[in-house]
Amino acid sequence: MKLFNGLGGRQLVHRLSAWIHFDYDLNDKEHQINHKLECKHPSCWNPDHLYIGTQQDNMQDVLKSKNHYNTNKEVCKRGHPLNGINIKTNQRGARVCRACEKYHSEQRTSKQHQKT
Ligand SMILES: [Zn+2]
Ligand SMILES: [Zn+2]
Repeated sequence: MKLFNGLGGRQLVHRLSAWIHFDYDLNDKEHQINHKLECKHPSCWNPDHLYIGTQQDNMQDVLKSKNHYNTNKEVCKRGHPLNGINIKTNQRGARVCRACEKYHSEQRTSKQHQKT
């Protein structure tokens, strides 16, 4: 059956579920079915937990889930609150405390002042 050409491997149930529920094209090579991080069961195929995305989307999810451990920390090592506007994400995707960053840059500028 031509329809099942794209099937195989671990994603089988995800793809089948998406095919049934979202009208996903099983021969679509650019997109895959990603399982949302909210659900902890990788083999689950609940359509509410699935979305059509790319491999990159999936990698983003994995990165997010790694950062998730940090997310549980409520203060940084200097005791600033790690939430809301005090948080930013750096180029490497890690969460940075704005108050600490400000502190560091002030240190830097005051050193420059001392030199001059
Ligand atoms: Zn699930
Ligand atoms: Zn801080």
